[in-house]
Amino acid sequence: MKKNCLITIATLLLFHALQAQSQKDEVRKIFDEALANGQSYAMLEYLSLGIGNRLSGSPQAAAAVEYTRERMEALRFDSVYLQEVMVPHWIRGHKEVGRMVNSVTYGSKELSVTALGNAVGTGPDGVLAEVVEVQNFNQLDSLGKEKLEGKIVFYNRPMDPKHISAFQAYGGAVNQRVGGASRAAKYGAVGVVARSMTLALDDIPHTGTLVYEEDIPKIPAVAISTIGAEILSSELKRSDKLKFYLETHCEMLPDALSYNVIGEIKGSEFPDEYIVVGGHLDSWDVGDGSHDDGAGCVQSIEVLRIFKALGIHPKRTIRAVMFMNEENGSRGGKEYARAARENGEKHLAALESDAGGFTPRGFGVQCSNEVFSKIMEWADILNAYDLRKIVRGGGGADIGPLKEQGTVLIGFLPDSQRYFDYHHSEADTFDKVNRRELELGAAAMASLIYLIDQNGL
Ligand SMILES: [Zn+2]
Repeated sequence: MKKNCLITIATLLLFHALQAQSQKDEVRKIFDEALANGQSYAMLEYLSLGIGNRLSGSPQAAAAVEYTRERMEALRFDSVYLQEVMVPHWIRGHKEVGRMVNSVTYGSKELSVTALGNAVGTGPDGVLAEVVEVQNFNQLDSLGKEKLEGKIVFYNRPMDPKHISAFQAYGGAVNQRVGGASRAAKYGAVGVVARSMTLALDDIPHTGTLVYEEDIPKIPAVAISTIGAEILSSELKRSDKLKFYLETHCEMLPDALSYNVIGEIKGSEFPDEYIVVGGHLDSWDVGDGSHDDGAGCVQSIEVLRIFKALGIHPKRTIRAVMFMNEENGSRGGKEYARAARENGEKHLAALESDAGGFTPRGFGVQCSNEVFSKIMEWADILNAYDLRKIVRGGGGADIGPLKEQGTVLIGFLPDSQRYFDYHHSEADTFDKVNRRELELGAAAMASLIYLIDQNGL
């Protein structure tokens, strides 16, 4: 009896050791395939240079839907289909003007601005007003209507460079851009100029979404380059008659029909359990959206391509999802989760790549302690590829709505230091993406998806 028991334990240990070794070997093959035969870079080249930026509702967004569908069909995924979603259709119109007037140093001087996404325009007559600079909402509130009525509010709090994660620095400053317009409009302000969300000091303005609160007048809002912000701030201290002229031509059109693009490989053992890997197909209408988030889309397609190339038959159904409209509405992510609920699809895990195509560092996981311990059992395998940052917390805007059904949410974590140099600006272009870094990211994602699929969670 005792002997039998020992034999059973020894057999189990041997089985586990063999299984771990075979998974370790498979991860090696995944990296080999991504680095030697990778297709993510070629796909991104087409998406970025062949199609260009892809704001929701634009013809380029429609072209990107067709291109990614065609790619996944050509790669012979088990099924490829579109999921309808109505998206906001905001257009920029003519290029905007931001001009300082009555400056003692410059007289009149144009500064680099870009309209914030979803903002109303000033129309051709523009807005000319005195400027009040603030660092935060508390300061704004303390000034109140008396000091702000009829003025342009200039939010100039920089991203805090002391954070090691650039995303944390972004998180600490972005409320000015997202909520600054309505907050200022409550006090009768007529426009907003917000310092660009970047740690770089340069002359490139960075757009991004703003959200108007209901029942508060919608006022025009632009982002100003960090150099422009420095000039405006220093001129405000010198010139008491300084005014700012703002002219934007953006407008919100009726919602447009668009699509999430989905490709899948059917699970061999648990076809009704889903694992999602995705990015968002839309981008802002500046640059070509290579890092944000063309990279995440092509990496997600590449995960499934690698599985097929290596003959990996997943136990669970694996889906690559190109979500539409993350940037100015997140309608794609919401619709995906709604349809999953309606169809009773059980989503075990979802992994989003929406932090750029940079050198992979690891993953942020939103899950129970038990699941996290399980993922940490794979740390040795992942560490061998420099994936050392496996941390609690994370996910992504598109996969977030799956949380309600208990899905484990995972954010891919590439190095964050250069992301905000490019993010939402004319600088987010294909030449900023390094082929190897992009491919390593795809391999990292494929490896984690493979381990989740094989071992469950
Ligand atoms: Zn993004």
